[in-house]
Amino acid sequence: QRYDVVAFLLSQPDVEVNTKNIKETTPLFDAVSLSHFGILQKLVSHGAELDALDADGNNCLHLAVKKDKFHSEEETGEHLDYFWKRLGLEKEEKLCGTVIACYLGRSKANFHQKNNSGKTPVDLIESDYQEKIKELFPPFCLLCGVKEVSVTLLPCGDKVICRKCYEENQPRDCPKCEKPIKNFTVPATPKAEDKEEKQVAHSARKIADGSNRFYKLEKMTDLIRNQMQQFHNTANNSRLHNRLAFSWKWNY
Ligand SMILES: [Zn+2]
Ligand SMILES: [Zn+2]
Repeated sequence: QRYDVVAFLLSQPDVEVNTKNIKETTPLFDAVSLSHFGILQKLVSHGAELDALDADGNNCLHLAVKKDKFHSEEETGEHLDYFWKRLGLEKEEKLCGTVIACYLGRSKANFHQKNNSGKTPVDLIESDYQEKIKELFPPFCLLCGVKEVSVTLLPCGDKVICRKCYEENQPRDCPKCEKPIKNFTVPATPKAEDKEEKQVAHSARKIADGSNRFYKLEKMTDLIRNQMQQFHNTANNSRLHNRLAFSWKWNY
C-alpha cells in the first residue's frame, strides 16, 4: 500500500524527490532503510540523487550493503540477474543488499565514497565479495576523476590514477600516501580508458566533493589548474568547466 501511495505521489508533476529531512536523508535513503526495492526503483527513475550523503557521510550504498534482503513490489528481476550471477550468488539471493547495491552502483552511486568514519561501501561488504565488486565498479582516477584507475604506483602499491594522468602529470609522489614514486606498472591491455561523456559530470563532482582530501593544498591547486587548462583546451563541455571552476575556487 505504501508503494501505491509513493507511486501516486511520484506521478504528480513537479514532484521533488531529493528533499532532505532533519537527518539529512533523502527519500532514497528511506527506501533503502525500509528495504523497499520497488520504491527505490521508482525514485531512481524519477531522478533521485545517487550521490547524496547523510549526516554521517554515508551514501545510499553504505546503507544498502548492510541489508539482508529487500522486498520487491513489482516482479522485476532481469536487470538484477547480471549482478547476482557475477557475484556467484543463488537466484534466491537476488534481492540481497549487495545485489541491490550493484543496481544502485550501475545507476552511478559510488562504491568508493568514504563516510565520516573513513569507510567505503566496499569496506562494509562481506569480504568474499569485495574483489568482485571492485571489478564491477572500479574506482575513478584521483586526479581527473573521470577515468578508471589503471596505473599501480611502486613501491607503495597504490592504484589510484589513470594512465593518461600519469603520463601527463608525471607525479613524483603518490597522490594518496605521498610516498615517492620509484616505478609503476600498467596492465598489458589498457581497458576502458575512455568513459562515456555522461560520467564526466558525476566525476567532476567527485573532485569537488572529496578527492582533494588526499592532497596537500598546493599540489591540488596546481593539478586542478592543470586539469582546467586541459579541459579548457578541449572546451567541449561548458557545464563540466563550470563545475571545475567551482572546485578550483573552493580550494582556495
Ligand atoms: Zn586520470
Ligand atoms: Zn601510495
